[in-house]
Amino acid sequence: MPQLDGALCNANARSNYWLSYIEAEIEYAKSLCMECPAILECAVYMMEQYDDDAVPVGVLAGTSEFDRLELLWKEVDDGEGTNWSEFDRLISEGV
Ligand code: SF4
Repeated sequence: MPQLDGALCNANARSNYWLSYIEAEIEYAKSLCMECPAILECAVYMMEQYDDDAVPVGVLAGTSEFDRLELLWKEVDDGEGTNWSEFDRLISEGV
């Protein structure tokens, strides 16, 4: 979790929920993010990790790892000739 001024995750008794893989706990974390005064800085922190070729972990700026993976998948799926589209083809062909 980012160490940002006013971050609700760090001050919360259930801060482990931000790193959980249990849906109800993830949804709890995401809902608190929406009230967090540091959400914009958190989004910047998250994007900087992508810029550094790192994979952001846990709930960040109101998004879960699955949410971000789904967004990335849709973004890549719009393109043609990507590695991911080739991967899709192999899966659909049962290779
Ligand atoms: S937006 Fe969410 S993850 Fe980011 S600092 Fe706030 S509570 Fe933590």
